[in-house]
Amino acid sequence: MKNKNDNTSSAPTIQIDAEGYYGEFGGAYIPEILHANVEALEKTYRETLDDPAFQREFNNLLTDYVGRPTPLYLARRLSEKHGCKIYLKREDLNHTGAHKINNAIGQVLLAKRMGKTRIIAETGAGQHGVATATACALMNLECVVYMGSVDVARQQLNVQKMRMLGATVVPVTSGNMTLKDAVNEAIRDWCCHPADTHYVIGSTVGPHPYPDLVARLQSVISLEIKAQLPAKEGRDYPDYLIACVGGGSNAAGAAYAYLNEPRARILLAEAAGKGIHSGESAATIHLGSVGIIHGAKTLLMQTADGQIIEPYSISAGLDYPGIGPMHAHAARVGRSEVLAITDEEALAAAAELTRLEGIIPALESAHALAALDKKQFAAGDVVVLCLSGRGDKDMDTFLKHLPVNQH
Ligand SMILES: *Cc1c(COP(=O)(O)O)cnc(C)c1O
Repeated sequence: MKNKNDNTSSAPTIQIDAEGYYGEFGGAYIPEILHANVEALEKTYRETLDDPAFQREFNNLLTDYVGRPTPLYLARRLSEKHGCKIYLKREDLNHTGAHKINNAIGQVLLAKRMGKTRIIAETGAGQHGVATATACALMNLECVVYMGSVDVARQQLNVQKMRMLGATVVPVTSGNMTLKDAVNEAIRDWCCHPADTHYVIGSTVGPHPYPDLVARLQSVISLEIKAQLPAKEGRDYPDYLIACVGGGSNAAGAAYAYLNEPRARILLAEAAGKGIHSGESAATIHLGSVGIIHGAKTLLMQTADGQIIEPYSISAGLDYPGIGPMHAHAARVGRSEVLAITDEEALAAAAELTRLEGIIPALESAHALAALDKKQFAAGDVVVLCLSGRGDKDMDTFLKHLPVNQH
């Protein structure tokens, strides 16, 4: 990957073009039957998002329901350890425990405005499913969530939450019965119900306009950072922005307002699982090659003859064989630097944050925290790290792998 100094002179643009591409990545590779749906979404999403009435409704819900703005917290003991100033953007304090609710509420509002009466979603660990079921309960829409049956079995609490919220959870038994298969099943459902149904995708993946739509709905994260930082640091940009990437939505949200600000370097943490070259990883940007997955041209983990390689990470939210096209492009042109973090490094970083700051992070966010150890910071550096979610959902994993105090 690129050296951090490579991107300071000129900032390549990371914005989407008129055809829905970031450089060579993106586009909409979809079955014929969905063309009308995706085109309708493409035609209306920008206008709707920019409509003052939509913005008012969305922002009111983000404030009064989700609990925004989330704090930008100076983590003093963590900063001392790394010899710089580290701020945590506390997405873990959002209602439902992560950044995913920002996108779910925005898309369900958008669907209502498009006259849709039925919402479908895919989910891996269940975080996006819970966020979508929450938004549907709030706005009184029917909700169906597709989830691999392996994930249904290992994420019972989130399955029960979705059912309590009124959603129908459909276990998917095709393929490896995990996230990738749940996406395929959701797309199949959408093909059967194109008129009344909106598909709420949970990350900056899928056919255009989804990556841009989700990035815009999550951009509230960086707009808040930009508004919060001046009072603390006398300038509105950090030297480093750090985030974990699964599909890339919390990273896109945390970076969005800084895409054309080369002084804000972007560091991304992807999941190396048991090691980049162990055969058990989800380090898509390190290992991927160009291909098409779930309607977008991007980097994906595939065999020489184009079969998708099953990804692995201890963290279900990072366990995806593709990557959002924005991030594939940003990495390729050197706008971001991508670090691969193993399960073990993430677990250690989660334990460390817990003891230094009294915050138990999600395993996904712990990958971003582990990236701090891979970098040498200068004393004056201002680092903003997106703490994408809280660790409640990962307690079983922590108890299994960490020496937790039994007293
Ligand atoms: C789902 C999830 C992620 C990964 O998704 P992105 O779209 O890459 O942000 C990261 N952190 C948490 C807490 C999640 O729930």
